[in-house]
Amino acid sequence: MSVLVTKFGGTSVGSSAAIRSLIQITEHNQREWDHVIVVVSALSGVTDSLLRIVRTAQSGDDSAVKELYTQLRSRHTQVINELLTSERTEVQTAIDELLTECLRLCSGVQVLGELTPRTLDAIAGLGERMSARIVAAAFRDRGIAAAAVDASDLIITDDRYQDASPLMDATATQTKAQLAPILHDGTTPVVTGFIGATLAGVKTTLGRGGSDWSAAIIGAALAADEVWIYTDVDGVLTADPRIVPEARVIQKLSYNEVSELAYFGAKVLHPKTIRPVVERNIALRVKNTFNPEHPGTLIVQASQAITGAIKAVTAVQNLCLITVAGRGMLGVPGIAARTFAAVASQHASILMISQASSEQSICFVIPTTHADNVVLALRKELASELERRDIDDISVDMEVAIITAVGAGMRGTAGVSKRVFGAIGDERINVVAIAQGSSECAISLVVHQADAHAAVRAIHSLTVTEETVTANHRAPCN
Ligand code: ADP
Ligand code: ASP
Ligand code: MG
Repeated sequence: MSVLVTKFGGTSVGSSAAIRSLIQITEHNQREWDHVIVVVSALSGVTDSLLRIVRTAQSGDDSAVKELYTQLRSRHTQVINELLTSERTEVQTAIDELLTECLRLCSGVQVLGELTPRTLDAIAGLGERMSARIVAAAFRDRGIAAAAVDASDLIITDDRYQDASPLMDATATQTKAQLAPILHDGTTPVVTGFIGATLAGVKTTLGRGGSDWSAAIIGAALAADEVWIYTDVDGVLTADPRIVPEARVIQKLSYNEVSELAYFGAKVLHPKTIRPVVERNIALRVKNTFNPEHPGTLIVQASQAITGAIKAVTAVQNLCLITVAGRGMLGVPGIAARTFAAVASQHASILMISQASSEQSICFVIPTTHADNVVLALRKELASELERRDIDDISVDMEVAIITAVGAGMRGTAGVSKRVFGAIGDERINVVAIAQGSSECAISLVVHQADAHAAVRAIHSLTVTEETVTANHRAPCN
């Protein structure tokens, strides 16, 4: 019994034309696979709009709330009217019920003047609940049996609102129990991405962009053969096409390579998507809803390493570099541990760490939004060292970016760093800090934000993809 989980992102459900492509693609996939599960995001921009509405409600601006509500309703109504010949009234009623829930939650926020992460999740997830209903009805409109399924009945999570994680055993049990009868009936499940619920049934979300992860979680729960992420580009590209318009599609990547790319900013895949599939060796594919014939990018255990090659380059922006420095740190145990504990106390995640071998400084990169709180926490934790001048300073370099070159073929190959730094140097870009993971699958460097795009383009000029090398460069790798 072959099982395929497909996920369609915001632009892939963002208009009636896109939903028509989704249906055609699914009809095609259903000819090749025994069971196809469709996971959908909210219509593009809708999650942002929902969050804007509730924040506006908190500020007490009633007429702006009404205005945003009207825009959101007419966006969905337009798609319903363009797409459906039957069930228009029923689907519009279902959408209105969800939007009424939004208004009810907003008035609660307005009365209390308080907006909790839990309420944010209840509101943010409404977009997927609306889109799943529309897409399922569109299937039925074309004579294909389909049912909208809220993932809050499938994905059981912890209660870290806005950033929840699945409890995999409970999720697998629920997902199988809920989807098996639907699939058995020959009905296509159209499942909401992005959302889950706690064991107590309170709605959660998996974090922004989390629908990719939803598809991987459902794929793992059902022991699917493959998970395909449909988006608006032909696959994983050698760089963000908005920075490098000539970026090329990468045919094959290993889980390790794509993890580095996703972690270091390639928006095309949520970084947590990899873990559920890697643990079960489920192949992942990234494909284009608007160009479905293109094979896209295949992500598997071992890709073809191209000796010495950099396959892709990414950038994470809006970061700051914090440096804790002082001669008195030399050989003193525990400073690093206390530094990182202070950072963790502010729930800031560290993207990169670099320590000079003299042990006279530790520097690390965190999102700029956490900078002030982290510096305060560090000054408090290290107050006595600062007073004794064992630590001279805690300095913050605002507005930096991490640029990462990725490629498993870089492992054990001399000269890759030289080429990377050569390309950066040729552009006269100053490198602030460097790190290389032990997997040697990626080299990261910190540059000033203003140099980020130029640095990406410089490293992109070094990228090599399958079609540009000859077979004798190849060796299996992961
Ligand atoms: P979806 O709504 O389908 O999840 P996203 O907007 O989250 O789509 O991700 C797709 C977008 O990611 C692309 O349109 C592209 O602009 C951007 N992107 C950034 N880096 C890359 C990359 N290396 N390869 C492909 N796309 C990338
Ligand atoms: N709709 C959600 C978001 O915009 C989840 C997703 O699209 O993956 O973040
Ligand atoms: Mg996405």
